[in-house]
Amino acid sequence: MAWSDSCSGAFEKWADEVGDDTFKFDTVSKYYRKGMNFTPPANTRSTNATPSYNPALVSQGGPLDVTYPAYANSWTTWVAVAMEAIGIKNTDSFIDGALNGSAWHTNTINHTTGTRASADRAYLRPYTQRPNLALFNGTLAECVVFNDDKVATGVEVTVSGNSYILKANKEVIVAGGVFQSPQLLQVSGVGPATLLKNLKIPVVADRPGVGQNMNDQIFFGVSYRVNIQTGSTLSRGEAAAISVEDFKANATGFLTTPGGEYAGFEKIPQDLRSKFSAETLKSTFASSAPPSHYLNSNLISKKANTSCHSPSNIPSRLARSRIPGHSQLRRQPRHLPCPHR
Ligand SMILES: Cc1cc2nc3c(=O)[nH]c(=O)nc-3n(C[C@H](O)[C@H](O)[C@H](O)COP(=O)(O)OP(=O)(O)OC[C@H]3O[C@@H](n4cnc5c(N)ncnc54)[C@H](O)[C@@H]3O)c2cc1C
Repeated sequence: MAWSDSCSGAFEKWADEVGDDTFKFDTVSKYYRKGMNFTPPANTRSTNATPSYNPALVSQGGPLDVTYPAYANSWTTWVAVAMEAIGIKNTDSFIDGALNGSAWHTNTINHTTGTRASADRAYLRPYTQRPNLALFNGTLAECVVFNDDKVATGVEVTVSGNSYILKANKEVIVAGGVFQSPQLLQVSGVGPATLLKNLKIPVVADRPGVGQNMNDQIFFGVSYRVNIQTGSTLSRGEAAAISVEDFKANATGFLTTPGGEYAGFEKIPQDLRSKFSAETLKSTFASSAPPSHYLNSNLISKKANTSCHSPSNIPSRLARSRIPGHSQLRRQPRHLPCPHR
């Protein structure tokens, strides 16, 4: 996965909206560093694919491995040139709160093994033997259980068709992801009262924002045929066998790169905004937040023979991912809530 900080303006907005300055970037960025175990780029990358970075912005010793892949696609160096050519300036990284310009992505990868680092590997697996940690695999949280004082006292779960309640000693933390967290809250009676009443869900707390303001991140790719070495050619025949061997023997080679290795962020230029709809122009994002993200990819495609990119035939604009206004989360609760106990 790509690893970067969000932009300082987004945190500023968050802090303003909840009236709590501890959400500002200067405070939050300390926690980005705390989690990080950074390793500099390996010397297996060519010179023009070796990223620069600001040593003051990285840190070592955290649980999550962050580095640059041991391998970079040769054509990605051209993406860097293209970004600069269209005005998205090359920068050191996306970890200074600016989130503007273009840079090689840092990734959550273990530098020594070339394998993926993740929240699971960093924060869970090393601690599964702790006596104060119990994992319930294959278990679906059906709803949060509240007492008469509206205090969450547990979670009703189902495993293999059987339901029971996990009681909380202290608190219940909901971390079901972008869709399922609001869904779980709603079926538990926490959400917009009108919606819950229509669905005959007893209202524990009228929270109009729960399940609202979902932003669709529109993503699309633009492909060009080339006759240079790409993910397609490296994934076939002898090249693929070499990649597997490189990875197993030395944690190097094509298989160490997750793709999307170079990216750019920008506010969509004014001349291109003229045809935006009024709905699109409504943005809930911080004014400094760049709404478009360009990402190169080494996705596998059919091999074709055409001329390779040169500075003169680089497309004027790369693939664009635009984040417009917001749409409502429309997922319905899976079923009526379990009774509050
Ligand atoms: C295609 C894609 C690419 C991405 N790439 C990147 C990237 O490169 N870098 C990056 O930083 N971010 C990336 N993201 C975003 C990142 O994956 C999310 O921000 C992150 O996973 C959110 O973590 P989370 O723990 O909040 O939720 P999730 O990762 O969604 O975890 C929620 C978990 O809760 C479980 N769950 C849900 N409901 C229940 C229930 N009722 N009972 C029991 N379990 C339940 C789900 O099964 C899931 O395992 C990407 C996202 C996508 C979709």
